Amino acid sequence: MSETAPLEPGAPAVEGAIPLCVPYLSGNERRYVEDALATNWVSSAGPYVSRFEKMVGTFLGVGHAVATVNGTAALHIALLVAGVEPDDAVIVPAMTFIAPVNAIRYANAWPVFLDAEEQHAQLDPVEVERFLREECALGAGGRLVHRATNRRVKAMLTVNVIGHPCDYARLRPLADEFGIVLIEDATESLGSNWNGRRCGAVGDIAALSFNGNKLITTGGGGMLLTRNENWARRARYLTTQAKDDAAEFIHGAVGYNYRLSNLNAAVGCAQMEQLHFHILRKREIAARYDGAFAAVRGLRPIGDAPWAESSRWMYTMQVSAAEFGMSRRALGARMAEEQIQTRPLWQAISDSPAFRGDSRIAHPPCPMATRLHETTLSLPCSVGLTKDAQERVIAAVLRATEC
Ligand SMILES: *Cc1c(COP(=O)(O)O)cnc(C)c1O
Repeated sequence: MSETAPLEPGAPAVEGAIPLCVPYLSGNERRYVEDALATNWVSSAGPYVSRFEKMVGTFLGVGHAVATVNGTAALHIALLVAGVEPDDAVIVPAMTFIAPVNAIRYANAWPVFLDAEEQHAQLDPVEVERFLREECALGAGGRLVHRATNRRVKAMLTVNVIGHPCDYARLRPLADEFGIVLIEDATESLGSNWNGRRCGAVGDIAALSFNGNKLITTGGGGMLLTRNENWARRARYLTTQAKDDAAEFIHGAVGYNYRLSNLNAAVGCAQMEQLHFHILRKREIAARYDGAFAAVRGLRPIGDAPWAESSRWMYTMQVSAAEFGMSRRALGARMAEEQIQTRPLWQAISDSPAFRGDSRIAHPPCPMATRLHETTLSLPCSVGLTKDAQERVIAAVLRATEC
């Protein structure tokens, strides 16, 4: 390939290699970015920012959308506007990418790690209920207190892992009963539904990410979504340096420079135009893999719960070493030899060196999250993954069973 030849959308950086999940930029991205450049609107104000917010807000049916520099920033601000204060405790799954846990620490609050359920690798509602009923108590003024640390439990930060929604039929009533805010990390679940409702529209407030490997991308970017107008206003204020008077440089709080640029939002608008196509392709790829692996002993694709319609953003299966005859690590290594990129679900955050040794954090055991890291493998599932490449992935997995 010559240096000047543009890559096909979704093409791997190394020819012949199949990457896990790369962007697909096939629509008006270039046109809108050129327009942003031509009109000199390149920074954190401009027509594409508000248009992008409107497109995402409309898709989710949520009234207020605030675009941010990335998903982690959206989570940080969501925690602040939802009223999480220093030394509060926030429930979070141990089986998650680290970003939401870091965001809790940025807010000077503390994570309470709870375990995952086995079927879909999501936050286990049984664990949440046990924690709330057995480890917490209602204190003065209806304050919910975690007894072991004497911290106020202010929120539950759920994460829709690999695109699949959490079991909100059980989590939502618990949040309501105990008077805690439900913050939805929907970064991986744009285009998924829980019980017919869009992920990102289920929580009291939600965060999305438009990082390069997400369902749609802006390069880097994120968004905060809520029906609460006051929270949205506060989020807009905090993400733009908390200006009370922009002309006189009067700031009413310690703010953040977290707004998305118009250049990034231009890409986002073009990507949103392709959203339904992206969802369709993800589901097609998942259906093909599901079909190919259905009869393979020891492989269990993580499919949809009866109440879920997942975008299947990140195709993931559980590998039983005993039945499959090979660990997910060995299978991943075998795939790598054929230049096929795979990865496991994350190390449980309760096991992460970044948090494990911190005695200020409550560490109930999370054995399922620990186990899922050892038994899961995600396969290439880029929107632009060709049928040939999908067949290559399937063949490589099936070949491993023959060894
Ligand atoms: C991608 C992701 C984020 C953070 O998004 P960034 O835009 O990379 O900051 C947060 N939570 C989860 C679960 C993610 O997968």
